[in-house]
Amino acid sequence: MRAWASVEVPDLNLVPAQISVFDSASQQLQNLRIADEVTMYVCGITPYDATHMGHASTYVAFDTLLRVWQAAGAGVNYTQNVTDVDDPLIERAKLLSRNWQELAIEQTELFKSDMVALRVIPPANYIGAVESISLVEQQVLKLQENNCVYEVSGDLYYEIGKSKVAGKIAHLSRDQMIEIFSQRGGDPARVGKHDPLDALLWKLEQPDDPSWASVLGKGRPGWHIECAAIAIEYLGETIDVQGGGSDLKFPHHEMSAAHAQSSTGKPFARNFLHTGMVSLDGEKMSKSLGNLVFVSKLIHSGVDPMAIRLNILSHHYRADWEWFDKDLQDAVERLSLWRDAFACESGTADQSQEIFNFLVNDLDTPSAIDAIDSWASRTLISQKDYAQHEDSQDNAAQALDPDSPESMQRTVDALLGIV
Ligand code: ZN
Repeated sequence: MRAWASVEVPDLNLVPAQISVFDSASQQLQNLRIADEVTMYVCGITPYDATHMGHASTYVAFDTLLRVWQAAGAGVNYTQNVTDVDDPLIERAKLLSRNWQELAIEQTELFKSDMVALRVIPPANYIGAVESISLVEQQVLKLQENNCVYEVSGDLYYEIGKSKVAGKIAHLSRDQMIEIFSQRGGDPARVGKHDPLDALLWKLEQPDDPSWASVLGKGRPGWHIECAAIAIEYLGETIDVQGGGSDLKFPHHEMSAAHAQSSTGKPFARNFLHTGMVSLDGEKMSKSLGNLVFVSKLIHSGVDPMAIRLNILSHHYRADWEWFDKDLQDAVERLSLWRDAFACESGTADQSQEIFNFLVNDLDTPSAIDAIDSWASRTLISQKDYAQHEDSQDNAAQALDPDSPESMQRTVDALLGIV
């Protein structure tokens, strides 16, 4: 599948630094590898109800990580999927009396245009589930060889009891897992399963349901094996970062990692990174509640997409946060202040390195934004002073650096994706 349009990123001249990020599995800060090829897989959308602020917040966070990782000298091979066939999409299409493929294409295109507006760098590999049926098939066959698969009325399930790693990412009790599994696409109560937590790998053809011919029987892929198969194919058996919203920790990331490890015998990811949830009116933004703020609607109403991005980045990526229109207004004003400062002929001392140093510390965007605010305010005040005291060449004017506004603008563009 074609990704969206590329985004130009200015080169920066920064002192290299280690990047530490919080790994959900070890529950500790861990250093990311810096190498010519490091790998990141971020779970993509199921294309209906795109792109709400919860999605946008996740993809902007991982885009910022990509930018910082690249600035630290890494060549990041980034892959994202589109779950363009799955129960929620098919159910929505039926509800709307629409063709599921048309709905998927329309919503994927809308998502791409939102990503372009938010200046999110496209993944090197943007891969749909439908185009990955044979990859899923190969992985299920490997799992069968490794004796981790059984059948219930033609549907194929992964036997969680065979996994050495299941439960190591989300740190939930078994009772919690069973409860959440049923809320997030699992079927713990299905009769014939060996364990309530066994996840579907391959769903046998049903009436009115899309399906593909396969040695596994005519059917379609399960969700978790889709991501495992795509990540292994495009990024290798052990990836550096598996990312997504915190609601993907369980079951999705637990199951994908378990499937992958049972298939390859190797750890699936070195780091599992999760973004906080976005709420509206006190409730988590979700499709089921319908309390969604859509990026495309905001943009159509005249909101600058850069203000949306800046509002997202003003929250730490791991924190849950609430959407308030007032915060968006603050972001509009902040953006205007920054742009005025970038347009100055000179500015106070360049703080690019300080901004980078905040970001390599578990992507501390709020502190980076504070530093830019203070630089912009001081630069604008000093310009006024300069205009008032041009003849006297006072100290404030002499301290100004003619290269600082351009350098800061490049840094904010390259690292935060804001212009
Ligand atoms: Zn996924």
